[in-house]
Amino acid sequence: MSSVRVRFAPSPTGFFHIGSARTALFNWLYARHTGGTFVLRIEDTDAARNSEAFLDVIYESMKWLGLTWDEGPGVGGAFGPYRQSERGAVYQEYLEKLKAAGRTYEKDGAIWFRLEGERYETYDEHRQKTVTKVKNAPMVIDDAIRGRVERLEDEDFVIVRSDGHPVFHFVNVVDDIAMRITHVIRGEDHLSNSSKHVALFQAFGVTPPQFAHIPLILKQNGPGKMSKRDQGALIEEYQTRGYLPEAVVNYISLLGWNPGGDIEKMPVADIVAKFDLPRVNQSNARFDDKKMAHMNMLYLLALPPEHFIAAARAYFAKHEVFAKTGLTTEPPATYVDEVFLLSQPKIKGLEELPAYTAYFWNDTYPTDDKAKAKALGKGDPKARLSEILGALPGLDLTSDASVEAGLKALAESKGLGFGDYQAVARVAVTGLSAGPSITAIFRVLGRERVAARLARFGQAV
Ligand code: GLU
Repeated sequence: MSSVRVRFAPSPTGFFHIGSARTALFNWLYARHTGGTFVLRIEDTDAARNSEAFLDVIYESMKWLGLTWDEGPGVGGAFGPYRQSERGAVYQEYLEKLKAAGRTYEKDGAIWFRLEGERYETYDEHRQKTVTKVKNAPMVIDDAIRGRVERLEDEDFVIVRSDGHPVFHFVNVVDDIAMRITHVIRGEDHLSNSSKHVALFQAFGVTPPQFAHIPLILKQNGPGKMSKRDQGALIEEYQTRGYLPEAVVNYISLLGWNPGGDIEKMPVADIVAKFDLPRVNQSNARFDDKKMAHMNMLYLLALPPEHFIAAARAYFAKHEVFAKTGLTTEPPATYVDEVFLLSQPKIKGLEELPAYTAYFWNDTYPTDDKAKAKALGKGDPKARLSEILGALPGLDLTSDASVEAGLKALAESKGLGFGDYQAVARVAVTGLSAGPSITAIFRVLGRERVAARLARFGQAV
């Protein structure tokens, strides 16, 4: 284990969104890359805005993404408790240190942090009142991503509110000290807080950790930061939609990090090996749901068959697809597996699977008018249907190749092409104009179901 200690410090005030996931991921990657420790600390001091339900979503989403923490709620560690709401005694102890050092005073019932430097009064145009300012040099933050950042901190600030609650800046710094955090990797929205934090670290006589402020994630369309309300923002949503967590992790890792080269699909072990702070971009990243979907498709395609089947089964179970289709019993397992397998190369995401496979589960399915008109508009479809029906008992259904050979032989014997049979067969047995290969459909549906569907369609044309 290296001495690197990083933390992800969410406030459970809303759903776990892509920005939080990215911050958690970059911390986790840095810890794994350096052999350090990844701490999960819950910043839940704002009792009015926190909720246990949001906390569960954070835990669940992190586990789903595989971002396991070495210290924190549920796993413990030497620097706990890891929920700020349980750390009152620690804050009291650190407050006493500041008091003893003469760095606090009380005003209007609140406890203020006293900056070092000469004080002077000045009229603040913006706030339209006279304020006390402090003459001092700008704070210098040597950020691992932003480089050298200077910010003037020239007004004392509240660290304990009049209701007795400690303020974010104070508890955040106290915990980073108490938990021996070496690197603070967090969203750029906190860059403006860093000068306050540095002032506090210095007041405690502690060298600040290495800061690394990661760029914002912009919303897909238009200017501005991605918000929790934007489409595609919530991690839970990807879980529900059957996205593969490895794909989500891979996509999110590229939001603001540049691995070099043009390889984008990378196993997480490679991401861990390559990840480092200097390669995190300074410029903002833009979310793109199509790229996310594409990444997911690449991962789905690459899954070994048994893993794809397991993922598809889990998706069907979660969404009760068979029950919603009106089936009282599930189709035989081998049949289900076959249907999933022939769909694997054809779908972009598991959420497409129920619609893509619908006609495999139910013998009644809608017929697409356009597909029907197109298939019936060519040659003599009624004759083609009865010819296939006639050939069906003799077709060898053991493999796609044998089905294809049988249908081709039929076409040849009539002096026609495979295509003359395909379209009409497809619309008859699936109601659609596209889908898996017709040979695979025949093989998986089986002789009886194909025959019944062809006959029924034949009567209707
Ligand atoms: N609780 C803060 C947030 O959710 C984290 C601050 C930090 O990482 O220092 O934004």
